[in-house]
Amino acid sequence: MKVAVLGAGFQGVCVALELAKQGIACDLYDQGGVPITQAGLINEGKIHLGYVYGKDPTLKTARKMLKGALTFHEYLNRWMDFDSATVKFSRPFKYLVHKDSILELEQSDSYFANLEMLYEEMMGNSGLTYLGLNDHFFFEKVTDLDGYSDEIVASYQTIERSVDPLDVASGLRREVMQSDLIYFLGHHLVQKVEAKGNVYAVRSSNANSSPVKEYSHLINCLWGGRYKIDRDLGLDMNDSIIVRYKVAIHLTLRNTHDLPSFTIIQGPFGDLVNFTKNRIYLSWYPSCMIGIADATNQPNWDDLLSDSRRDQILNESLTRLGAIMPELPEVICQRSIQTKKIEGGLICARGREDITSTDSDLHHRYEIGLHSVGDYHSVDTGKYSMAPYFAVQVVKRITG
Ligand SMILES: Cc1cc2nc3c(=O)[nH]c(=O)nc-3n(C[C@H](O)[C@H](O)[C@H](O)COP(=O)(O)OP(=O)(O)OC[C@H]3O[C@@H](n4cnc5c(N)ncnc54)[C@H](O)[C@@H]3O)c2cc1C
Repeated sequence: MKVAVLGAGFQGVCVALELAKQGIACDLYDQGGVPITQAGLINEGKIHLGYVYGKDPTLKTARKMLKGALTFHEYLNRWMDFDSATVKFSRPFKYLVHKDSILELEQSDSYFANLEMLYEEMMGNSGLTYLGLNDHFFFEKVTDLDGYSDEIVASYQTIERSVDPLDVASGLRREVMQSDLIYFLGHHLVQKVEAKGNVYAVRSSNANSSPVKEYSHLINCLWGGRYKIDRDLGLDMNDSIIVRYKVAIHLTLRNTHDLPSFTIIQGPFGDLVNFTKNRIYLSWYPSCMIGIADATNQPNWDDLLSDSRRDQILNESLTRLGAIMPELPEVICQRSIQTKKIEGGLICARGREDITSTDSDLHHRYEIGLHSVGDYHSVDTGKYSMAPYFAVQVVKRITG
């Protein structure tokens, strides 16, 4: 078996490490010089329990998210030392209901209650834990809205957390570099893949290595770069995929602070993640979502982000989140910011309209996962929180 994994993002790295765990060697391709430099690094790190998918009352999306969330801790521990001592976990999220939410308050209440039943059903006697923690409730409705402006009409305390994707990336990179079974081909831009009889020929550009190599099995984890290869190999599912370029704001502050992590639902609002130890992630969707395109016709996304645009996005996000939480501008302001990293990353999902439309397919994500033809497997990660789960699934598919 000669295996190539295309893309050394979070998804590709999890696949390569699971292959190695099963004793299978692979070539791991990436255009970058080190693994995990794109969406898998800059994202918010939220390990979704489904709270944000209230526009899918069938709970199909929630069921899928729960599979990823409830195996995340166990699977990541197969490949690195992963717990709250090695990786920063955020404070648990509050979900804040905005007065302009596209979901009625009663719908949110009943969605959260149904989600809790699903969570309990899936936990059952499975022995699974959410992030290795031992929380005693799933959500609680909070009646006290002190601290928020009148834009917020309800609030739920949840157990959902983010894990710091920077810490996860450094742990996994170390494991990839130490593995005898993973051959990392950095600075290899994958240009074309062809099926030739029983083999797949991968053409990549790199001055120091042969431009074409052949493999018996191919796993495509290129995220935004997946679609052209899928189409060439007969998996044409691209007609309704939209790719959004969303900016992530990572800050370290000079002082510790006591802000909650929160997500504002349901619609084009924002988030704040308190990773503790001075580290903050924040985003205001209308300012941070700066590009949208068809999957097979993507521009050069990095051209969208000049230094002045980055500062503008930071200022707008702080202003809008500050209007919702008046305490915020005192804690996060130019004086208190020690370092800032403002980068964009891709979000690829089935849909034709942005989340402002109540009917948009972006409000559900249950079709994500593995798509295969022959020994070619394409992984639609969908969410950071799903990558370890899909990595184990795709390796099972290969090993039978
Ligand atoms: C701002 C933002 C916030 C997000 N927040 C969350 C969150 O809180 N929770 C959550 O679950 N999900 C979140 N997501 C989604 C999540 O980040 C992605 O679903 C997931 O990280 C994608 O998988 P990946 O890490 O492998 O992608 P990437 O990190 O993009 O990896 C793909 C790799 O393929 C390489 N590549 C692409 N094309 C080529 C080519 N032709 N040749 C060679 N290499 C190539 C890239 O260099 C890259 O390393 C967020 C996304 C963004 C952008």
